[in-house]
Amino acid sequence: MRCKDPIIVVKDLYVNFYTYAGVVKAINGVSFEICRGETYCLVGETGCGKSVTSRALTRLIKSPGRIEKGEIYFYPEPGKKIDIMKLSDEEIRKIRGYDIAYIFQDPSASLDPLYTIGYHVAETMAFHGVVQSIKEGIKKAAQVLRLAKMPDPESRVRAFPHELSGGMKQRAVIGMSLANRPKLLIADEPTTALDVTIQAQIMNFLKELKEKENLTLLLITHNMGLVAEMCDTVAVMYAGEIVEEAPVEELFKNPLHPYTRGLMRAVPKHVGKNVTLESIPGTVPNLIFPPPGCRFHPRCPYRFDPCDKKRPPLIEIEKNHKVACWLYAKEGGKR
Ligand code: SF4
Repeated sequence: MRCKDPIIVVKDLYVNFYTYAGVVKAINGVSFEICRGETYCLVGETGCGKSVTSRALTRLIKSPGRIEKGEIYFYPEPGKKIDIMKLSDEEIRKIRGYDIAYIFQDPSASLDPLYTIGYHVAETMAFHGVVQSIKEGIKKAAQVLRLAKMPDPESRVRAFPHELSGGMKQRAVIGMSLANRPKLLIADEPTTALDVTIQAQIMNFLKELKEKENLTLLLITHNMGLVAEMCDTVAVMYAGEIVEEAPVEELFKNPLHPYTRGLMRAVPKHVGKNVTLESIPGTVPNLIFPPPGCRFHPRCPYRFDPCDKKRPPLIEIEKNHKVACWLYAKEGGKR
């Protein structure tokens, strides 16, 4: 095990979506663990399964999606193990928004236009019994919004979502997620819908908050710059699988998987007239008919004999640095 004190452990997770076009094999045997107090990043292209993985942690997969199999264990405190897959719907609802909270990409989608910001915060607290009534929650909402660095929190409590800017809405959502002092905060592309200056403010704030509140953060992003700045450990996902996992410095110094290397090369480094931006040739596969063997093989310049037949296992190459690629296999690898 990588962590001495894990907060979440996922083993061999499979999630499918049953659509009219066919069964989308969205998550294909994902295993990882997050250590208490760290920032763990899931990184990869849109549609690679980052958000589905994070939602599966609290069984937040809606129809036509289904968790096919897998084990998910949550440790709210050292030594106390909760089997997420065995909880009833009511029990999992008590964990969601309390011990494990989410910040989603689009803050507008998390806010009901008919209710004030204060009501939203109060409702989250009242549902989990942190306050006895909505009225009591509304009284405490300004305090929560202050923690999320909302400007003029007292008057924002009475504001409706449409009266706030994008950045303020995201602060309101962060306030809601922090209202119950969660142990694990899952931030799913929390700044994608915001402009660049607000993005930086929100990310700096999350960094500060993590230190102050002793939070564990699961950050989902496709931005390698954010990964470098925020993360302790990174898992690179491709087509529903983790293809590489490493401490952040190690990953940037020594990326092993051909897809990770492609992602690194695709980060723009210079600007100018004659600079061509690098990209990974090909497109992400259709997960109704995923490629056999290594799901990256149709795009991989290094593919060789076993790649289109056998799925490469995620193996540890160096301490805490794992990769799923036949190039690094003990026997027959071409590293
Ligand atoms: Fe490329 Fe083969 Fe490695 Fe897949 S297993 S990334 S196809 S070399």
